[in-house]
Amino acid sequence: MTVKANRSIDNEVVIIGGGLAGGAAATMMAQAGCRVLLFERESAPSHKICGEFLSAEAKQYLVRIGLDVDALGGHVISRLRLVRGASMVEAPLPFHGLGLSRRVLDNALLEHAIDCGADVRRSRDVRVLKTASGVEIDVEKFGRWAPNTLLLANGKHDLRGLRREPVKPVEDLVGFKTYFRLDATQTQALRESVEVIVFPCGYAGLQLVESGRANLCLLVDRAQLQRSGGTWDGLLRDLLRDCAHLRQRLTGATPLLDRPLAIYRVPYGFVHASKESDLPHVYRLGDQAAVIASFSGDGMAIALHSAALAVQSHRSRRGAHYYHQRLSADVAAQLARASALYRLGRSAPGQAMLIPVARAWPRGLQLAAALTRVSPRAVTRVQRALVQV
Ligand SMILES: Cc1cc2nc3c(=O)[nH]c(=O)nc-3n(C[C@H](O)[C@H](O)[C@H](O)COP(=O)(O)OP(=O)(O)OC[C@H]3O[C@@H](n4cnc5c(N)ncnc54)[C@H](O)[C@@H]3O)c2cc1C
Repeated sequence: MTVKANRSIDNEVVIIGGGLAGGAAATMMAQAGCRVLLFERESAPSHKICGEFLSAEAKQYLVRIGLDVDALGGHVISRLRLVRGASMVEAPLPFHGLGLSRRVLDNALLEHAIDCGADVRRSRDVRVLKTASGVEIDVEKFGRWAPNTLLLANGKHDLRGLRREPVKPVEDLVGFKTYFRLDATQTQALRESVEVIVFPCGYAGLQLVESGRANLCLLVDRAQLQRSGGTWDGLLRDLLRDCAHLRQRLTGATPLLDRPLAIYRVPYGFVHASKESDLPHVYRLGDQAAVIASFSGDGMAIALHSAALAVQSHRSRRGAHYYHQRLSADVAAQLARASALYRLGRSAPGQAMLIPVARAWPRGLQLAAALTRVSPRAVTRVQRALVQV
């Protein structure tokens, strides 16, 4: 039996998901004086699949809403290394990023949202139900009701009852993330760098996060995982056998998680295409709206940009259709470029060219990094507009 709760508070905003998009939107809505109710499925701070490279734009958004990011102890990253087999090329990044674990960052942001006045409820797995007049949400111990404004910030995968329309088939990739304590020499060698290591079957990111741990995050074809016996141990064994660089980095390293986190079928390249028929009060944020190829390291900035834009659109009463169109205009080109680079990096001729081209033209790496980020112009525009609403 469902309970019809009496929740007809005019300016109440309900947010599903307490990741970066949800946490930032909750903070900004609360700062703007709205009543915010955020539901997060996890009961406590938890690890997330992510390379944990926080770009300069992402940091700028977090600082702008009052989060003291530097106090969280991230590792400054100023160089990008591209590695294939035993070959490596390095270039300075066009900005400084941070290696910061999502467990620490997302929790700090949720705590900040609470301090700003948002009502955050953990251990709440929200269901969404379509009705003749719109959508209702169903939350354990809260009941079922139709919020005035609903922000879907529940990440990559669809909410039951409110599926997105994929524009293309989802690739058969499996993602893993784990932490290692590297030995002192390898920790020193990795300092201030993010390494993108390409394999025939996928790619990995390796970088330090706070407390000197190394984050290893990788994406591989599911077929490779099967060839490796269907287990993480088998996959890692095969990757280390075939990649001298990763073998060197992990020699003498201590794994810090009992087992890695895994994810399957991430809809890379997805951008929510808004239609006039979209409900004007239902906003898709972060990975619900746009999913950029992971190696670009800008998914978090897009999540934060979407949160700021949604708050601005809501506060200026422009609504969700305007918001989705604007977001798509701000990020679709970056996503398309990231997908094109990804495809190039996955093809055999593309992989063979990668290191020679990057060596001959090191600025190309910087350009690739710049072309796959939310543009500084869009960030400035949204931040200025936020001040005015
Ligand atoms: C392999 C990989 C590596 C990546 N590396 C990077 C990187 O280095 N840098 C970068 O910037 N980006 C990276 N990204 C992208 C980045 O992780 C995402 O873009 C970002 O996390 C999106 O934030 P979000 O708030 O939209 O979603 P999430 O961070 O996924 O948050 C969604 C939240 O919603 C909650 N939730 C889900 N369903 C429900 C429900 N029904 N009810 C209540 N709560 C719910 C979840 O528990 C979660 O806390 C990577 C992604 C992948 C897959």
